[in-house]
Amino acid sequence: MPSKLQKDDHAGWNWDHTYVRLPALFFSKTRPVPVSGPMLVVLNRPLALSLGLDPDVLENSADIFAGKEIPPGSEPIAQAYAGHQFGGFTNLGDGRAVLLGEHLAPDGRRFDIQLKGSGRTSYSRGGDGRATLGPMLREYIISEAMHALGIPTTRSLAVATTGEEIIRQEILPGAVLTRIAASHIRVGTFQYARALEDPDALRALADYTIQRHFPDLMDLKTRYADLFESVMERQAALIAKWHHVGFIHGVMNTDNMALSGETIDYGPCAFMDRYDPNTVFSSIDRQGRYAYGNQPQIARWNLARLAEALLPLLHDNQKIAVDLANEALGSFEARFQGYWLLGMRFKLGLFTAENEDAALIQDLLDWMNANHLDFTNTFRTIGEETAISEPAFIDSSFLAWHDKWTARLTRQSQSPAEAAEKMRSHNPAVIPRNHKVEEALAAAVAGDLSVMHRLLEVLADPYRKSSLTEFTSPSPAGGPLYQTFCGT
Ligand code: AMP
Ligand code: MG
Repeated sequence: MPSKLQKDDHAGWNWDHTYVRLPALFFSKTRPVPVSGPMLVVLNRPLALSLGLDPDVLENSADIFAGKEIPPGSEPIAQAYAGHQFGGFTNLGDGRAVLLGEHLAPDGRRFDIQLKGSGRTSYSRGGDGRATLGPMLREYIISEAMHALGIPTTRSLAVATTGEEIIRQEILPGAVLTRIAASHIRVGTFQYARALEDPDALRALADYTIQRHFPDLMDLKTRYADLFESVMERQAALIAKWHHVGFIHGVMNTDNMALSGETIDYGPCAFMDRYDPNTVFSSIDRQGRYAYGNQPQIARWNLARLAEALLPLLHDNQKIAVDLANEALGSFEARFQGYWLLGMRFKLGLFTAENEDAALIQDLLDWMNANHLDFTNTFRTIGEETAISEPAFIDSSFLAWHDKWTARLTRQSQSPAEAAEKMRSHNPAVIPRNHKVEEALAAAVAGDLSVMHRLLEVLADPYRKSSLTEFTSPSPAGGPLYQTFCGT
């Protein structure tokens, strides 16, 4: 019989740890806290294959996915970071996660393999270091849906239960999510480095980040300013993509913004049904700080915190450094607007650019808002020939808009069929509707995983026309206002 070690080796882990070579202040060596009864709940087999891991071996690796054992060759750490949470600065760190290390996929890409919910660390403060099944499956579902929608995101390899009971408002099953990320370097990691008042540590983190995410900048004299610009560019592109599908992150604290440009830390996030830029789902966001329409401003605010952290690297003269940072930050809106407009044009089947396009798009959004229309379905429907015979569209202001849009379409050389195809590939038919996600989670927590698997299957192909209205209908009208909770 093969030994445990050989079996684990056969999973295909290909470790190459670089984060642990940063100054020791950036992490603490921490093993996951062993648990009593690991059970695998869900494994992402296609993701495993793309990482060069053997899904059949992983099916039998519940001990690893629940943090009872660590794979040979891993070097687990908890990462230190800080962050502004709802505007207030705090020292944080992985309070309920460990990074097993970095895995190199067969195509050469480097991924962090992190266990979330793996027990207390030196950064846990008052917390128990644990996570519960519902929220971990929620992150699994939403992150995989985001990936299928073509939005940069961390991904989910597995969820395992621990066999332990976790005390929240009620007693819930403990669970661990295995998260795959380009890295876990956050704006808050730089804030942490800056707060150390150790210029060498800050420089080491910046050089590490450049090496890992923007290697082309490494030899440039201006590389720290370029790092900032590149991060800003990726954030502008990311938030625009969120806007194109109606995604609301919910807790855009600086510790939840990754320099890689991936969406990270799915807590009280959700997709908007009816279009309304003031939409907020998070029960803890009473001021609407992280509402759908505020996300670009918040991204800019977070980037300003990153710029502050980078100041000592931008120039020896602080005044010049501040001017450089402000000048760069000043371009954020235009960058965001550029990405936003590009994606919105595609959503309307537009291949070319005209000055009036932004107004044309805004008029449609305003009409949707005034008429409480579903964001996803409206875009999807107007691309179909039969659209204007549907009751919601028999409306004089829509018809006036439709005439303008039709005229606009004729001013490009692409055929109506090409425009329709563009629209179909940029307007998803299915998004993770809140009531469907909740239904899947409730069934899963009660022991029936079939509902979640069906949902995952549909979400994996979101642009295909789904004949299943079950997945395309908005939450039933008159239901309670949907709220999500941080779910620690
Ligand atoms: P989050 O809201 O998940 O982004 O977490 C914010 C901070 O709180 C991070 O530093 C987490 O590690 C920490 N944290 C969240 N939940 C727990 C928990 N149950 N135990 C310890 N730390 C936690
Ligand atoms: Mg977080």
